Amino acid sequence: MRPNSADLGIENVGLQPDARGFITTNDQGQTSVPSIWAIGDVSAPPMLAHKAFREAVVAAEAIAGKPARKDWRAIPAAIFSDPEIAYVGWTQEGGDSARSADEDRTNAIRGRTGARWRCEKPRVFVKTVIDATTRQILGVHIVGPRASDMISEAALALEMGALADDVATTIHRTRRSAKL
Ligand SMILES: Cc1cc2nc3c(=O)[nH]c(=O)nc-3n(C[C@H](O)[C@H](O)[C@H](O)COP(=O)(O)OP(=O)(O)OC[C@H]3O[C@@H](n4cnc5c(N)ncnc54)[C@H](O)[C@@H]3O)c2cc1C
Repeated sequence: MRPNSADLGIENVGLQPDARGFITTNDQGQTSVPSIWAIGDVSAPPMLAHKAFREAVVAAEAIAGKPARKDWRAIPAAIFSDPEIAYVGWTQEGGDSARSADEDRTNAIRGRTGARWRCEKPRVFVKTVIDATTRQILGVHIVGPRASDMISEAALALEMGALADDVATTIHRTRRSAKL
C-alpha cells in the first residue's frame, strides 16, 4: 500500500510529499500550508480506516478551534486470518522503555485461564508488553478466534493508561458463566 499523493498537484501550492509519498502534518493534521489539512492514508501510516476516521475528527475539531490532538498510542489493528491476529500499542522491541526490557520488563501470558479459551481450537495467545517500573500497559498482541473483537478492550486499557493490574483484577465473564 502506498499514499495516493502523486497526482494531487500539491506541489503547485507549495507542498512536497516526503520520500514515501506521505504529506507531512502536525499533530492536528495541518500541513505546512496552514489552510491545507491532510488525513488518512496520505498523511501517515498505519493505513487503516479507523485511524483515517479519527484523524478527520481531530482535523475538523482543530479547524473549529477546539484543542484536539492526535494520540496514536492506541490504534488497534487486525489481520482477518484464521486464526485472527490483532494488536495495539508497542511490540516488545517497539518502544524506548520496552526495547530496553529484559525478561522482567515484559510479560507473556497464554490465554489458558478460562474454560472458554481452553475449549477454543486453536488456543488463544495473548502477549502483554508492560513497563516494568510503572506496570503501565504498552502493548497487547492477541492470536486466536475473535482476536479482532478482544483487542478493543486492550485499546481502551492503553487509552486510559491502565496498569497491568487494572486488567488482571477486572472480572471477565466466560461463556459458561453467562449460561448459568
Ligand atoms: C483491499 C483493502 C482492504 C482493506 N481492509 C481494511 C480493514 O479491514 N480495516 C481497516 O481499518 N482498513 C482497511 N483498509 C484500509 C482502508 O481502506 C484505508 O486506510 C482507508 O480507506 C483510508 O481512508 P482515506 O480517507 O485516507 O482514503 P480513501 O478511503 O481511499 O478515500 C480517498 C477518497 O479520495 C478520492 N480521491 C482520490 N484522488 C482524488 C482526487 N484527485 N480528487 C478527488 N478525490 C480523489 C478517492 O476516490 C476516495 O474516495 C483496506 C484497504 C484495502 C485497499
